[in-house]
Amino acid sequence: MNYIDTHCHLDGEEFAQDRDAVVQRAREAGCTQIFLPAIDVASCRTVLDVCAQYPDYCRPILGLHPEEVRADWRDQLLAIRNLLLAVSQEPKAKSQKPIAIGEVGLDYYWSREFEQEQLEAFEEQVRWAVELQLPLIIHCRKAQNEMVHIIKKYAHDLPGGVFHCFTGNEQEARQLLEFPQFVLGIGGVLTFKKSHLPETLAAAVPLDRIVLETDAPYMAPVPLRGQRNESAFIRHVITRLAEAYGVSEEEICRQTNANVQKVFGGMCK
Ligand SMILES: [Zn+2]
Repeated sequence: MNYIDTHCHLDGEEFAQDRDAVVQRAREAGCTQIFLPAIDVASCRTVLDVCAQYPDYCRPILGLHPEEVRADWRDQLLAIRNLLLAVSQEPKAKSQKPIAIGEVGLDYYWSREFEQEQLEAFEEQVRWAVELQLPLIIHCRKAQNEMVHIIKKYAHDLPGGVFHCFTGNEQEARQLLEFPQFVLGIGGVLTFKKSHLPETLAAAVPLDRIVLETDAPYMAPVPLRGQRNESAFIRHVITRLAEAYGVSEEEICRQTNANVQKVFGGMCK
């Protein structure tokens, strides 16, 4: 069983003590690559550091997360853009070359204090994706219509991306799938007892429109719910997906790997 974890905060301090062991367990479980999204300037640097430590295995994704958009967002964006351009144009190694912009988006779940700033920061980074022709990793909570409105403006010129941590209903899935170059990121939520996601996916989301992700250290799947999540745990998501779609676990891996290739292209192995 070979799969790719397209969204893992492996640079987080939760992994500071045992990162080597976490990567070792991921390899043994069949995880062939891990993509690391940043959330702010500081994490852009830690993401690049971890990718340098595991050059054949980890790939960086740089951007400003909507929950990190505050009064200083313009300074944050400027610093991230400078870093993004530097490592895109002259990476110290192939493993330093960003494979996407993220994670970016809109999040009004906790607060709308920086609603306008979030909109501006998101749109700016969508323009970077067009300019650099990099896929987008989009985080969106309580703001799908606003997010879709912005993506529509650039849809023609965007190379594609992932709607990360999709947990919506059939109607929301269909709205997102109208962007043909985008896929939905599926993780631990699929396994939660009250989740309607298995039925939603089977009814409205073709298997060629999803990729696997942990969002580690968050969102550990059942039966490990509540623990620190890690890339090796994706096998529980694969098992549940195979049940939902009525196919083998191998088929889930084969198709999601092909989907990763389609979205991220030649930038990963
Ligand atoms: Zn994340």
